[in-house]
Parts: sequence; structure tokens; C-alpha cells
Amino acid sequence: MLSDDLLAALVQHENERPRSQQLTLGPSELGGCREYIRNVMVGAPIQGNSEWPTAAVVGTLLGEHVEGVARDSLGALTQLPVTTTLPNGLVVTGTADIVLPDRNLLADVKSKVGLSEVRKEGPSLENCVQVSIYVLGLVQMGVLTEGASASLLYVDRGGTEQVLYEVTLDWERIEYFIQVVVDRIADVLDAQEHIDKGEVEYARALRDKTPPFCYSPRVMCPFRDLCWEGSEWVPDETIEDLEVIETIEQFVAVRDTYNQASGQRQELRERLRGVSGKTPSGYSVNWATENTLYVTRVK
Ligand code: SF4
Repeated sequence: MLSDDLLAALVQHENERPRSQQLTLGPSELGGCREYIRNVMVGAPIQGNSEWPTAAVVGTLLGEHVEGVARDSLGALTQLPVTTTLPNGLVVTGTADIVLPDRNLLADVKSKVGLSEVRKEGPSLENCVQVSIYVLGLVQMGVLTEGASASLLYVDRGGTEQVLYEVTLDWERIEYFIQVVVDRIADVLDAQEHIDKGEVEYARALRDKTPPFCYSPRVMCPFRDLCWEGSEWVPDETIEDLEVIETIEQFVAVRDTYNQASGQRQELRERLRGVSGKTPSGYSVNWATENTLYVTRVK
């Protein structure tokens, strides 16, 4: 049947696209699964896909249409190559969809089936990180200036809602998400050091997604079997030693405390932005770079 032939051709077309054959780390990946980031960094083998990613294809076509109208009607710059140097020195490249220098603004169109979820939950970390990296790069390139903002424009590709739902990230939020990226990359590098020593369980801690996501037809992560095939997903062995179980529970409790403390640390750090000097008790406060704070005891 024609539909079978055409579907096979569409799947092949997607699999032959350069980005399906060689994965790179761009702004859209750095807010996603950290194990995906590690796999790309170490050049892990990628797995093909027999699904036709309709959601991604529709999203791309819709995005191109909105970009064209923004360019023709609002004077936006579109499809602008961007290079961003992150505070940890990592250089990331990508392409910004819509840039409005006169508004000191970057915009990115995201398509969803219905907008109720994004209205309720807010934008994903992936989306926030992606646009923050673009804004930082555009400021570094001199296209935008410090204080720029980013607009995430959500479109209902199901067609029920005929509006654009806009979420704006101001410069302060952008700086926050840049720090999040730096911390996530540090997690990956730290885990890789352990994995290099044979402590492969560190890879599991980086998996930010679960199989229903990784294997869903719209995602089909190229590392899905690497992550979840075999005994790693459901350990064969049942732990029965009460002392070990107690230790595991303590570990989970300490990890939760650590995660909570890490959030508080971030908040306090933001409150110290711009502060420098020495406290009467001998703590020195110094911002070595825009995103590197040292609080050290000097006497
Ligand atoms: S399969 Fe899932 S957990 Fe593994 S790298 Fe991909 S998204 Fe992450």
C-alpha cells in the first residue's frame, strides 16, 4: 500500500538526518537527562528508531511557520547560529529560532497537545535551560545586551486553543539556569570519574528519566537499551539483610537532606550576588567570575 511505502520513506528520511546519526550536545540537550549527556560525551553507541516522530516533525514545521511570520512582520532575526561559552569553559553551539534585538529578547516556539499542562506545571527544565544558553551566547556575541530576557511561546498543535501561551524568563532567571547547567555538567563529570574506575552504578544516578519516557514512540532515546536492557533496570537480587536495608534507608534520607540543602545553598548564593568583602568573624566573600562565588575563612 502507498501508506506503507510512504511511512517507510518518512522513517528512513528521519534516520538519515545528520542529527540522527551523530549526536552532539547543544542547548536543547543540556537541560535533559544527565545520562544522555554522559552517553554523548563518551561516544556511546546509538540505537536506531523505527518510529516516525510525528510530534517532532509537526513541531518543527509549526516553528518554521511562526519564525517566518515573526521575521516578516516583526523584523525578527531567525535561525541565528549562536556560540555560548558557559562559566565552566564549555563551548556550546546551536541555532536560535527568533531574536528581537530591539526588544533585547530571544523567543522560542514550543508545540504541545493542549496548553493546560504547561499553564499548570510551568515550562520544563529543558526548555528553560535551552533558552538561557541562547540568551547568554547572544549577549556574549553582542547581539543582545546584559539584562536580556527569553520568551517561551507555547502553541497548541492539537488546535483546541488558538492562542500563544508565553512564559518569560528575566535575566536573573537566565543566570540561575546557567548555574543549573554548570552544576549538571559537574554531576556528569564526577560520575564519569567513578565509572572510569569501574563503579558503573554511578551511571544509574544520572538517569533522570524512566522507561515509559525513554521508550515512548515520540522519544525513543538512542540509549534506551543501553540504560534499561538486562538486569540493571530490575535488580535480580533481593536485599534481605536488615542492617543493609537500614543503611539504604539512611542513605536515601541523607540524600534527600543533601538535595534540600543544595537548593537552600543556591538561594543563599543568589542573595549574596554582588556582595564582596570580609565579615567581622573572618569570612571572605569574593565573586571570582559572574557565576563563581568563593566564601572562605581568611583568619
Ligand atoms: S534511555 Fe532514558 S535514562 Fe537513558 S539516557 Fe536515554 S533518556 Fe536518559
